[in-house]
Amino acid sequence: MWGRTSVADRTPGRDRTDRADRGGHPPRRRSSTRPAERTRRAEPTRAAAYHLLRAVEEGAYANLELPKLLRRSHLAGRDAAFTTELAFGTLRHRAFYDAVIAVAADRPITAIDGRVLDVLRLGAHQLLAMRVPDHAAVDQTVGLARAVVSQGAGGFVNAVLRRISEGDRESWLVRVRPPGGVAALALEYSHPEWVVTALRGALVGHGTATAEAVDDQLEALLRADNDPPRVALVARPGLTTVDELIAQGGRPGRWAPTAVLLDSGQPGDLPEVRDGRAAVQDEGSQLVALALAAVPSEATGVTAGRWLDLCAGPGGKAGLLAVLASAAGADLVANEVSEHRADLVRATLAPAIAAAVERGSTIEVRTGDGRDYGAEEPGTYDRVLVDAPCTGLGALRRRPEARWRRQPGDLTALGPLQRDLLRSALDATAPGGVVGYATCSPHLAETSFVVRDVVKRRDDVEILDARPFFTQASNGALIDLGNGPFVQLWPHVHGTDGMFFALLRRR
Ligand code: SAM
Repeated sequence: MWGRTSVADRTPGRDRTDRADRGGHPPRRRSSTRPAERTRRAEPTRAAAYHLLRAVEEGAYANLELPKLLRRSHLAGRDAAFTTELAFGTLRHRAFYDAVIAVAADRPITAIDGRVLDVLRLGAHQLLAMRVPDHAAVDQTVGLARAVVSQGAGGFVNAVLRRISEGDRESWLVRVRPPGGVAALALEYSHPEWVVTALRGALVGHGTATAEAVDDQLEALLRADNDPPRVALVARPGLTTVDELIAQGGRPGRWAPTAVLLDSGQPGDLPEVRDGRAAVQDEGSQLVALALAAVPSEATGVTAGRWLDLCAGPGGKAGLLAVLASAAGADLVANEVSEHRADLVRATLAPAIAAAVERGSTIEVRTGDGRDYGAEEPGTYDRVLVDAPCTGLGALRRRPEARWRRQPGDLTALGPLQRDLLRSALDATAPGGVVGYATCSPHLAETSFVVRDVVKRRDDVEILDARPFFTQASNGALIDLGNGPFVQLWPHVHGTDGMFFALLRRR
C-alpha cells in the first residue's frame, strides 16, 4: 500500500515550523504545479537510475549493470554522469534516506511497496544531496512513479517528497539520527552498524588510530567511503607508458609510478585501455603487485623465476604481475577457480602473453582450486600472491551496494578459505621464496588474524616487514605506513582502496 491519505495533508506545515525552531534554513522553492498536471512519463536518466536500483535489489552488481543500462537508454556525457550520481548516491546513502522516508511517510519502510520505496529513495537523494531544484526533483520523480508503478503511487510519492523537501539534509539528520555512538555514525554515513564497528576495530587493530582518538579517523573513513573514487589507470610497463596516458588528459598518480589519474572522460575511450595495455586499477592494487615484485627472492631450487598468482580473477593484479615477471625473466602462472573469471584473466593477459613470448618467458592462465597447489606443486614457486576472496570492506566507495549485501556471517565462511589458500601458497613456495597475502578489506578477521593464525602453526615461515617494499614500489613517496610489519592502506589516508598486505618468507 502506498497511502490512502496524503501524508502532507495529515500534518500540514509541521516541518517548516520544526526547521525554523532549529535555527532554520531558507524555505525551499516548491512547485506551484498541482500533482495532476505534472508529468506522467519517466524521464530517461531517472528511469535508468530506477531500473538500476531494481536490478541491484534482485542481486545485480551496480558497477556491472550501469554501463548496460546507459547503453540501452542511449545516455552519455552529462546525462550518464547524472544517472550514475543519482543511482550510486542513492545506493550509498540508503540507510539515511530510509529513515527520512519512514518519518515523512509516517510508516515503517517495510510497509511501503519495494518499487515505490526505490522511487522515494531516488527522490530523497535529489532533494537532499544533489543540486536538483526541488520542483524538478518532485515533479520528475512523481512522473517516474506514475510510469513505473501507477497513478496512485504518484500521489503518494508526491506527498512524501513534498514533506521531505521541507527540510534539508542537516535538518533531517538532526531529526532522524540516534543520539550517539555507532548507531549515530551508521545512520549519518549510511553504513550497517556491524561494518562501523568492524572498521573502528580495524583502525585500532592496525595501529592507524589509538583507541582514544579513533572517532575522528572513523568518521573520516566513513565519509571517504561515500566519496566516488577518482578513476585510476595502470600503465602496464612494457606495453604502454604513463606519459602516453598523460598526453591524453591524465595526470600522474599519487603513489604508484605506473598510475595515471583521469579527472574526466571515459577510460574505455582510450585506445590503450581498449587493447589492454592499460586498465582501470586502484593505486593500492598496483602497489601490491609492484611491492611483491620488488622483494628480493632468496629461493633455492628454482632456477628461473617462477611466480604464481593463486586467486587471479578477474586479472587486475595479474595484468601488472605478468609484465613485471617477463621483465624480470620470470614465468607466471595465473590461477582462478571460476571458469568465467579465468576467461577474464585470459582476456586481460592477452597483450602481456604476446609480449612475453618475444622475451622468452611464459605466462599461463589456469582454472583450478588454489587450495590444491601446495599438495600438487610443493616448493615450486619463488613468488606467490594470494589476493584472497574477502568481504571487500576496503572498497566500499567503489561498490555502492556492497555494504548492504555483505553480512557478518560472510566472515565465518571466508575465514577457513583464506587460511587454506595461504597455507597452500606457503607449501607451493620454494624455501627462500616469498608469499604476499592481500585483501581489499581491513577487517582484522580476514587480515592480520588470518596471517598470524597460519604462521603460528608452522615453523618454516617468517613474517617480513612489508613497508619498505611499498616505499620502494612508490619510488619513496609512501613513507607513513604505521608500525608494520603489515601494510594497511586507507581510503581516507591514502586515497586508495583499503588494501591489506602481509609479506611472508618460507624458510
Ligand atoms: N587478484 C584479483 C585482481 O586483482 O583482479 C582479485 C582477486 S579476488 C579478491 C579473489 C578471487 O579469488 C576471485 O576471483 C575468486 O573467484 C577467487 N577464488 C575464490 N576461491 C578460490 C579458490 N579456492 N582458488 C582460487 N581462486 C579462488
